[in-house]
Amino acid sequence: MAELLRAEKLSRHFGGVKALTNVNLTVNEGEILGVIGPNGAGKSTLFNVLTGFYKPSDGKIHYKNRDITGRPVFETAKSGITRTFQNIRLFDQVSVLQNMLVGMHTQLRPKFTEILFKKPDAIPEEIRGRKDAEEVLDSFGLLDVAHITAGNLPYGKKRRLEIARAFISKPSLLLLDEPSAGMNPSETVEMMKFIKDIRDKGPTVVVIEHNMKLIMGISDRVAVLNFGEKIADGTPAEVQANHEVIEAYLGKEEE
Ligand code: ADP
Ligand code: MG
Repeated sequence: MAELLRAEKLSRHFGGVKALTNVNLTVNEGEILGVIGPNGAGKSTLFNVLTGFYKPSDGKIHYKNRDITGRPVFETAKSGITRTFQNIRLFDQVSVLQNMLVGMHTQLRPKFTEILFKKPDAIPEEIRGRKDAEEVLDSFGLLDVAHITAGNLPYGKKRRLEIARAFISKPSLLLLDEPSAGMNPSETVEMMKFIKDIRDKGPTVVVIEHNMKLIMGISDRVAVLNFGEKIADGTPAEVQANHEVIEAYLGKEEE
């Protein structure tokens, strides 16, 4: 498998807090890479650094053999990396479709605020965008709610809309931060299947999930973070047999 992203000795410190220390990580094209680790392990920080929300304190990030270290969010998005957030970030007051159009702002020329408020000269682009958005909504099972106000969607659909919105800009790498957070067990199982479908539609996927059993079921490889360090990565079977991983998780259960 071709290497898509490579992080070398990636670190991010916040004052005295070492959120991420010396993390080496490879993401291969076409795979689902699961990222697990106890609360506070540095998982979200990893995504924040990879996407340019935070600059790394140290280390390098290569994407498609280009050095993208420290590049701002709009540039990493242009290179094809998009993400969702652990806490849902939708525009609750506008429709599902309008939320999708906002997601296209890396692709379309008009600024997304112009799309939202429909400046006349933005409309031709918007029409093109709208067709794409409707297509994606359809493939995500959300077309029937396209004109509903996003804030009124049931929780599971909000989560799906967030992913659809990240998907619309045709990313080559999609980073999903705990897409099943706040879901009940059956919704979570459904979400995991859904993530497999997404990978089959195109982008390579890195997904953070705290349920170890579920992540093992869908991932080609799994990386484990603990106290900001990567303590293991490999196939699900390799990771499950790793002593440090078992300790990190058992230690957490004892608390
Ligand atoms: P996880 O997603 O694995 O639960 P995080 O990456 O959110 O962990 O956090 C890792 C550590 O970094 C935690 O101790 C957290 O408090 C700290 N941290 C994360 N973001 C910030 C920030 N913006 N400012 C200060 N500390 C932060
Ligand atoms: Mg997190």
